[in-house]
Amino acid sequence: MKGNILVISGPSGSGKSSLMHEMMKRVENTYFSISTTTRQKRDGEVEGKDYFFISKDEFKKGIEEGNFLEWARVHDNYYGTSLKQILIELSAGKIVIFDIDVQGHKIAQEKFGNIITSVFVTTPNQEILKQRLIQRGTDTQESIQKRLNNAISEMTRVKEYDFLLINDYFDKTLDDLVSIANASKNRVSSINTEEFISSWLQ
Ligand code: 5GP
Repeated sequence: MKGNILVISGPSGSGKSSLMHEMMKRVENTYFSISTTTRQKRDGEVEGKDYFFISKDEFKKGIEEGNFLEWARVHDNYYGTSLKQILIELSAGKIVIFDIDVQGHKIAQEKFGNIITSVFVTTPNQEILKQRLIQRGTDTQESIQKRLNNAISEMTRVKEYDFLLINDYFDKTLDDLVSIANASKNRVSSINTEEFISSWLQ
């Protein structure tokens, strides 16, 4: 078996992170790709668990040195996926989970398209998203507006994904995400078919 990648995108406030973390408790052999970002750490976030937090200068150096599989500017900050650890986890046969935006998904598709399963998570409508962002209480009014504007433009790119999950009822959405993650392991392109066929013929 080779590894595969599960990309999860969607607006901040859609419930994407909670879904992803709960899904990882229920699906075997997953690895969460910890992104690097230049944004400020939120209360409760842990360095090396949620993100690697670095300065813009360090990030630009990382780009020049080719350390990122993909990177993007989102809400005036840089976010990127480091390549090295991903390759190690893929060769160990893991399901590597990417929480990245639509720009990152497009680049990842160009490089690893045959082993990617992609999911877009959103709320039933934009008003619910706004209420969830306000309730979360981690963003200023200006940041909430930026995130809403970004969500509106991301929604126009849903058709680039394999699956759309409308997160109305958390437990139902979680069940769907767990099913998708489990099924993603069986993609033919993630299985060493030649080896399987030769052992099957013996
Ligand atoms: P947040 O600031 O809410 O943690 O994340 C903001 C957005 O950046 C989310 O849509 C998230 O999916 C995206 N993001 C997080 N890490 C990465 C990354 O490594 N690459 C890209 N392209 N987007 C990312």
